Amino acid sequence: MRLDVVTIFPEYLEPLNVSLVGRARSRGSLDVRVHDLRDWTHDRHRTVDDTPFGGGPGMVMKPEPWGEALDEVLASGEGEPVLVVPTPSGRPFTQELAVELAGKPWLVFTPARYEGIDRRVVEEYRQRCEVHEVSIGDYVLAGGEAAVLVITEAVARLLPGVLGNAESHRDDSFAPGAMANLLEGPVYTKPPQWRGREVPEVLLSGHHGRIARWRRDEALRRTAANRPDLIGRCAPAGWDKHDRAL
Ligand code: SAM
Repeated sequence: MRLDVVTIFPEYLEPLNVSLVGRARSRGSLDVRVHDLRDWTHDRHRTVDDTPFGGGPGMVMKPEPWGEALDEVLASGEGEPVLVVPTPSGRPFTQELAVELAGKPWLVFTPARYEGIDRRVVEEYRQRCEVHEVSIGDYVLAGGEAAVLVITEAVARLLPGVLGNAESHRDDSFAPGAMANLLEGPVYTKPPQWRGREVPEVLLSGHHGRIARWRRDEALRRTAANRPDLIGRCAPAGWDKHDRAL
């Protein structure tokens, strides 16, 4: 997968060299290219923002540098690019959207600053490629770079060969399948006793059926406690009689 990021803070994307995403890059599963938006400005001050039409506080990112940058980036590759525009007014970023984006060969991110990017930029590129306006949560960040890091990490771990164990995300919170829409329950490792606290006996039993049942019960309890809204989204056909008894 190829990822391009156009930003006024290229250094903010340095974590993309680290850990899982960094390893995916060095193994060739991810080709990440970070671009400085100011390289497409033409004035002495390398200006990327201006005052908003209609008045009001804050500044708006000018369309011209974004247009020149995106024209050049989009022309620099083969295949179908998908534009990912981080914005608090976008569609919520979910595991489902991460799976969808992980199936695309090329993502181009446009993290903004100030009050965001002149609207005409999204309108322009909607005519030319698939565009997703994406929010990582109901809060406002100072800029979209942190959102790019979040989206990239969630997408990269789904790419073939990126996680050491391909099964690792099968039981994750929000994963499709038997645990769809449920949060993952608690997890434990060695030692079996720590500060007088025991690992639940069932996990030491070696009994796969009981362990699966316990994990599902814990996932249901945790989801009901922390995210009751998700329980309502589980298909009723997916409930068994143990679930209903909980
Ligand atoms: N005035 C905008 C609004 O209220 O919708 C907020 C602009 S914010 C200060 C600057 C930039 O940070 C946004 O254009 C976007 O790129 C990024 N950003 C802020 N919050 C975000 C969020 N929750 N999800 C994704 N991107 C976000």
